[in-house]
Amino acid sequence: MSDLVSIFLHLLLFKMVAPVTFRHHRYDDLVRMLYKVHNECPHITRVYSIGRSVKGRHLYVLEFSDYPGIHEPLEPEVKYVGNMHGNEVLGRELLLQLSEFLCEEFRNRNQRIVRLVEDTRIHIMPSMNPDGYEVAAAAQERDISGYLVGRNNANGVDLNRNFPDLNTYIYYNEKNGGPNHHLPLPDNWKSQVEPETQAVIQWIRSFNFVLSANLHGGAVVANYPYDKSLEHRVRGFRRTANTPTPDDKLFQKLAKVYSYAHGWMHQGWNCGDYFPEGITNGASWYSLSKGMQDFNYLHTNCFEITLELSCDKFPLQGELQREWLGNREALIQFLEQVHQGIKGMVRDENYNNLADAVISVSGINHDVTSGAHGDYFRLLLPGTYTVTATAPGFDPETVSVTVGPAEPKLVNFQLKRSTPQAAPKRRIPNSGHRGRVLPKKVQPRAARKKETMMKQPQRGPA
Ligand SMILES: [Zn+2]
Repeated sequence: MSDLVSIFLHLLLFKMVAPVTFRHHRYDDLVRMLYKVHNECPHITRVYSIGRSVKGRHLYVLEFSDYPGIHEPLEPEVKYVGNMHGNEVLGRELLLQLSEFLCEEFRNRNQRIVRLVEDTRIHIMPSMNPDGYEVAAAAQERDISGYLVGRNNANGVDLNRNFPDLNTYIYYNEKNGGPNHHLPLPDNWKSQVEPETQAVIQWIRSFNFVLSANLHGGAVVANYPYDKSLEHRVRGFRRTANTPTPDDKLFQKLAKVYSYAHGWMHQGWNCGDYFPEGITNGASWYSLSKGMQDFNYLHTNCFEITLELSCDKFPLQGELQREWLGNREALIQFLEQVHQGIKGMVRDENYNNLADAVISVSGINHDVTSGAHGDYFRLLLPGTYTVTATAPGFDPETVSVTVGPAEPKLVNFQLKRSTPQAAPKRRIPNSGHRGRVLPKKVQPRAARKKETMMKQPQRGPA
């Protein structure tokens, strides 16, 4: 084939796949766009569905990776979720733009994007609430846009108040001792949540996500956990009170990365509100129970923040391009944040990978675990840390590690099997609440089981 013909074919192909334009995308249109990006970049993308909405619409995810569909050990998984509130639509459009951008820049050999896609597995869900979106979009067309029309799912449920409440457990455990991570779900959790929530919970349990953002609208601020105030319910009204996680400094940094890379979020004054540096602890803004952000942190290894991206929940089409330009760099920089702290493999003496090994950092009362492939990821700010790996039946291994500002530090663990008589000795000292009994209502069966099974490594100040 002559060069000329090849150039012509290339141009033709390029013309045929028109870019994602700056307009709102209804469900069918959104699905078309996801497959269009996939067809443009078939080798680095995959479209999959995590389940269906109440009305049967798919909850689609577009994945970017140099090996789509495969978890490569030591390559972190990161996700974006948009449009959880059906009437907050900017995130949905931004995630479509981002998908197109990643694909095109990869094809253009933009080294920053090539590196990101090769080193990261990125999952993008433009809409968690496709049913609500259709209601909101229809109302918008008829110009009857109430502030809350289309917010909830088709059963009228607010999906960001629909996750199991694990905060109650953690606030109890923080005070009295007990597991500080992977808090168990209630036995009957499936019957208590909506189909969209159930699909998302199963999704985030099946991938070892490390970092995530949930895109909303109605304000402009990067919101970090906890969302639920420690003093949530005081005789019916909600108390706002700064309620930090043990990873507060890290979460603040993650939120600031977004707000400062954003066109105007960091300025603080937006939509009539003022948030210093464009960030806020969720509970100090307003207390919210059963949200997705806190759930990610308390039930999985994933660190999630919530991004409020527009004053107007359903911005005019004419504003979408400006919004994309204001968010583009922030969306990329936030993904890059997954490459910090420490990561590594946890293995036994025979080099078998150990899943569910617990990685504890002295001074931070929140552990993470290794995934199914034996790899773990622990986001950390620069500094020197004492890190311990433990697994049932093995001796703990502790190392001191200094984390720099750029690349994540590789810290592998090779655990030795413990001798049987030594095992009970270690189990006792740090269980934290020996002799104390959790009240029945805050202690699900799985928690009791886990507690006795898991050796509790040394923790920071309680
Ligand atoms: Zn929202």
